[in-house]
Amino acid sequence: MSLTIDLSKLRNRVGTKETINLVTKEIPFLEDITLFKPLSLELQVLNLGFIYDLKGTLSTELKTTCSRCLKDMTFELTATFEEKLINATDLFKVEEIDQKQIEEEYRVFNKDDKVDITEIVVEHFFNALPFKFLCSAHCQGICSKCGKNLNYEKCNCIIAEIDPRLAILANLKQD
Ligand SMILES: [Zn+2]
Ligand SMILES: [Zn+2]
Repeated sequence: MSLTIDLSKLRNRVGTKETINLVTKEIPFLEDITLFKPLSLELQVLNLGFIYDLKGTLSTELKTTCSRCLKDMTFELTATFEEKLINATDLFKVEEIDQKQIEEEYRVFNKDDKVDITEIVVEHFFNALPFKFLCSAHCQGICSKCGKNLNYEKCNCIIAEIDPRLAILANLKQD
């Protein structure tokens, strides 16, 4: 499946804006990510004359697990993005932009006025993912010795965390 927007109503109408809402229950290519809520996309497309300005907000909730305590949790994900779209047949009509600029800053589409924005959405979805999922910023995690969830119980394990720089100093003193 793919996410497609139809620009036919905007074609040849410079300055016209259209709001498009899309909802999908799964992220194409990312079926292993479980969505708790469907992914909703709020898009605004503005015809700038050959170039379309696409502004979007994506939002969803993911089902995942805390990376410290492994508890099931949901994560609210939102991201805003902006892209410039241009039809391949219009490329030569825009004189003030060069080929390099087009490659770097524009999304070129080919099929009539139906633009597949799957890649754009997947890219911005990925960028919005945190490095780690945490059930709370204060999550104590699981004791690496006894396996107790330290958010709920205490343990008496002593986990020696020696700063490697201090360890070197200690060795030097012994010599
Ligand atoms: Zn946690
Ligand atoms: Zn412990």
